[in-house]
Amino acid sequence: MTRVFNFSAGPAALPEAVLHQAANEMLDWQGSGMSVMEMSHRGKDYLSIHAQAQADLRELLNIPSRYKLLFMQGGAVGQNAIVPMNLLRGRSAADYVNTGEWSKRSIAEARKYGTVNVAASGEALKFAGIPKQAAWQLDPNAAYVHICANETLGGVEYHWTPVTGDVPLVADMSSNILSQPVDVSRYGLIYAGAQKNIGPAGLTIVIVREDLIGHALPVTPSAFDYKELADNDSMLNTPPTYAIYIAGLVFQWLKALGGLPAIEARNRAKAALLYDYLDQTAFYANPVDRADRSLMNVPFRLQSEALNELFLQGAQERHMLQLKGHRSVGGMRASIYNAMPLEGVQALVAYMKEFEARHG
Ligand code: PMP
Repeated sequence: MTRVFNFSAGPAALPEAVLHQAANEMLDWQGSGMSVMEMSHRGKDYLSIHAQAQADLRELLNIPSRYKLLFMQGGAVGQNAIVPMNLLRGRSAADYVNTGEWSKRSIAEARKYGTVNVAASGEALKFAGIPKQAAWQLDPNAAYVHICANETLGGVEYHWTPVTGDVPLVADMSSNILSQPVDVSRYGLIYAGAQKNIGPAGLTIVIVREDLIGHALPVTPSAFDYKELADNDSMLNTPPTYAIYIAGLVFQWLKALGGLPAIEARNRAKAALLYDYLDQTAFYANPVDRADRSLMNVPFRLQSEALNELFLQGAQERHMLQLKGHRSVGGMRASIYNAMPLEGVQALVAYMKEFEARHG
């Protein structure tokens, strides 16, 4: 068997130790005689998995007790609608900061539910940077301020937390959650699809301050009403049990590594290796402002678009996959989430150097 270095933006690589454990437990979870997939979600075995995953995620992110942690479905795109349905709370408008493709998707969806003020846009920066907060036009009466903490396509990431006063800050952290410590108390709500740093697609994480729930629009589906989910411990209906089990194994893996400070150090080392090389060659280029570069998604271009296919082919021969940039951006993109080992980035940089020597 050959495991590849998988640079996919998501669904993305999972820690090998987690996959091994899941394989070992596939047919018989801890003497239960069945797979986690086959268990009743109301039975004591699954309930213990559910509770442990919640406790471990709370511990990793140091989630204050006044925040609810919800396991949902519908992905981050679902949250683009679910957030305004729940958080408008009788107000008519919300502020959104546009930093790229995923912000735009959030803005377009929110417009179905209320007025969206685009408080700042990265357009003038060609979406290669985060607009400085001093230039944001925030509305003190907004229901909330929405940001995308890490733009997966553009590779721009906030390395600071916006200050929004009494207006709750909402962040889409789909592609950088658990990559480093975060001060949850600075946010009203954080959401993330699981399929990058958490586990399989199908699970969505929501962390929401208690006082913000219980005000959903009357048309909100019960399964998407934060209050109903919180009151039912994320089991209003059948939760994505197997995805939660795998996420739980990933949380244990992170804890054993030393938690988020430890994974941050690894992530910084990986990103530095790649960006340092990109900065010292004219053959490849990353367009993002240095201060706003993502630790998770690193887009880069080759000197000539004509070399893209050759580059990808050589990468594949060396067992490095999914490096093709998003179709709307072109070029390459290396996603180097938590589960990507340093060796994967070392192999990529070695190959990039080799390719440059041959074609530069
Ligand atoms: N937001 C961001 C930042 C993303 O990277 C993605 C997925 N690539 C989404 C939202 C959409 O997530 P989902 O497919 O889980 O709805």
